Amino acid sequence: MLHSSRRVEQIPPYVFAEMNRKKEQMIKAGVDVIDLGIGDPDLPTPRPIVDKLIEEMQDPANLKYPSFIGCAEFRSAVADFYRRTYNVELDPDTEVLALIGSKEGIAHLIPALVDPGDIVLVPDPSYPVYRMATEIAGGLPYSMPLTADNGFVPRFEDIPGDAAQRAKLMFLNYPGNPTSATVDLDCFERAVSYARAHGIAIAHDSAYGMVTFGGYKAPSILQARGAKEIAIEFGSLSKTYNMTGWRIGYAVGNKKLIKSLSVIKSNMDSGPFTPIQKAAAFALRGDTSDIVARNRIYRERMDVVIEGLAAIGVKVDPPRGSFFVWAPVPAGYTSAAFVTRVMEQTGVMLTPGPAFGPAGEGYFRISVSVPSDRLSEAMNRIRLKLKIDGGQP
Ligand SMILES: *Cc1c(COP(=O)(O)O)cnc(C)c1O
Repeated sequence: MLHSSRRVEQIPPYVFAEMNRKKEQMIKAGVDVIDLGIGDPDLPTPRPIVDKLIEEMQDPANLKYPSFIGCAEFRSAVADFYRRTYNVELDPDTEVLALIGSKEGIAHLIPALVDPGDIVLVPDPSYPVYRMATEIAGGLPYSMPLTADNGFVPRFEDIPGDAAQRAKLMFLNYPGNPTSATVDLDCFERAVSYARAHGIAIAHDSAYGMVTFGGYKAPSILQARGAKEIAIEFGSLSKTYNMTGWRIGYAVGNKKLIKSLSVIKSNMDSGPFTPIQKAAAFALRGDTSDIVARNRIYRERMDVVIEGLAAIGVKVDPPRGSFFVWAPVPAGYTSAAFVTRVMEQTGVMLTPGPAFGPAGEGYFRISVSVPSDRLSEAMNRIRLKLKIDGGQP
């Protein structure tokens, strides 16, 4: 008889894999499904980046095993991007590491820093990888609730002293998935000073750092005073350049954290394909007008969603970043009841808040990574079929 490890047995099915299965079922049953669930950009990777990949693939030297820390061209492009965008200086040799997508780096950072029984401070709700990778490593996730009351920012002063003492690592993520919350630099200043006082490393997930609207510019945590002493920041080409399938991202920041992560990685993988790194370097060096144009599209789509929700009595402020709308369910519903009713009666798939942690109860997430006409269609179906008036079921 074959057995999975206890580690694997304890893992619930990946939420999005589960949602995908449901979607396939509905499609088979002939439903015109509109999936507002998963956050994968619908727009294509810009053609010049694809062309650059093809060009780099012609060079046989690029087809060998990549360097463990990433090719020099990619690391220096990341360092230049940080100087240009945040006025942060990075040593490309010791403070930048290439990743096979930031998810890979986030997951591998945990065994690099956390021993069994150590605490990892995890925002709730948040990207499920922080919690699950902690559990897989034998660490103990400690929830930091993100609520409308606290602006979806953890109250560091509420973390009990003994939890702070046992904590090795804290995750933060702004612009946030799923909450779409954004912060200004003073929030990172407070986080860094808290973490330095307690000897905790911070991992800031900046997957949506360049997906911002209306003149708002998301800060890097590395801009905060003393951040480089304790912080690592994860960046990704996935959302900025519509490159989710390419699997390319980076970690930047504290040398020692970068080094620990690279020790785990060098024993687990062999780094991203060199032509992909070179095409990514080309993307990072490109001008930002493309990014601005894409952000404008997301912002317009958000308006469609926000107006549609207002029509069923759900009020949401327009986000300053990410491509998510995080909305409270209409009165009288749990998250699961609302999402299930919408799915069954309209074929529109939403993500229930608790998929991102228990504090997500009472919310659902809409991703605007679908075209505006489909979004309008989804919002119309919800409005017509649900006949929710002033928030009543
Ligand atoms: C999409 C996403 C990631 C993963 O990005 P990859 O670089 O494609 O692995 C990480 N964090 C958050 C919050 C995300 O939404």
